[in-house]
Amino acid sequence: MTGFHWRSAAGLLRTGRAWAGVYRRQLNTTAVHCCHSSSAWSRHSNKMRIQILSALEDNYMYLLVDESSKQAAIVDPVNPEKVVDAVKQLNDIRLTTVLTTHHHWDHAGGNEKLGSLVDGLTVYGGDERIPRVTHRLKNGDTFKIGEMSVRAMHTPCHTTGHICYYITSPTLDTPAVFTGDTLFIGGCGRFFEGTAEQMQAALSSLGALDPSTKVYCGHEYTVSNLKYAVNVEPDNQTLRQKLAEAEADRAAGRPTVPSDIRGELAFNPFMRTNVASVQKHTGRSNPVDTMAALREEKNSFKPKL
Ligand SMILES: [Zn+2]
Repeated sequence: MTGFHWRSAAGLLRTGRAWAGVYRRQLNTTAVHCCHSSSAWSRHSNKMRIQILSALEDNYMYLLVDESSKQAAIVDPVNPEKVVDAVKQLNDIRLTTVLTTHHHWDHAGGNEKLGSLVDGLTVYGGDERIPRVTHRLKNGDTFKIGEMSVRAMHTPCHTTGHICYYITSPTLDTPAVFTGDTLFIGGCGRFFEGTAEQMQAALSSLGALDPSTKVYCGHEYTVSNLKYAVNVEPDNQTLRQKLAEAEADRAAGRPTVPSDIRGELAFNPFMRTNVASVQKHTGRSNPVDTMAALREEKNSFKPKL
């Protein structure tokens, strides 16, 4: 969450159960439909796969499965029981790794419980406040999980220790980046422990990734983010089309993740602080000042229903 992070564990687990969907999506295909049958997995048995797991009110956890080594990694397992259930449904897959984006409870709050449910977990993160962390990451650190190559991108601002995970694999057609509460689809996280300058640097580094890189963020905030973006750039037709698609996805109960870097550069105002129309909206003339003004305005923006 970008707002309130410190609700009780019991309350969070109660809301977590209210979520119905387990979404599966093949990164290796260009199709973006979700499939709900487990048989879809076996048809792609040599591929690396990413399973979207909803949690709490609007969080996403992501299960990354590397078939070559039969290993799985989980991003931000705030609902450990749901993660364990999802792994049990896969053939011969062992959960070995946790990738934590940041220490906020709705991202790192399941690490302790997951560690008690699964033996020998390696837990990555960039902040000493993350429970059970076994490997503290710095910017640019790399490691492998089976055939998956992971690169840590330190993106301080939402929290000082925030890490985005950039992942490539020989069986992925496009790279993937897990952006936690730094980059959302059409938006970015609040600046709880950092500055506009830091968010500008973080989003610039993400924007420099291969444009085809799929973006998997920490929350389903897309529709409200894009409504704010339309307020910033009412004449941006790519943005208006993206909002219509996102509203259709949500109306059908589908997640809006993933997007891609190419899209974010076209419709996310926080990725467009160097664009004249965005600067004009804020009345500022450089990216950092524009970033600060956007965040300030977004913090109190109420989209029309
Ligand atoms: Zn957060």
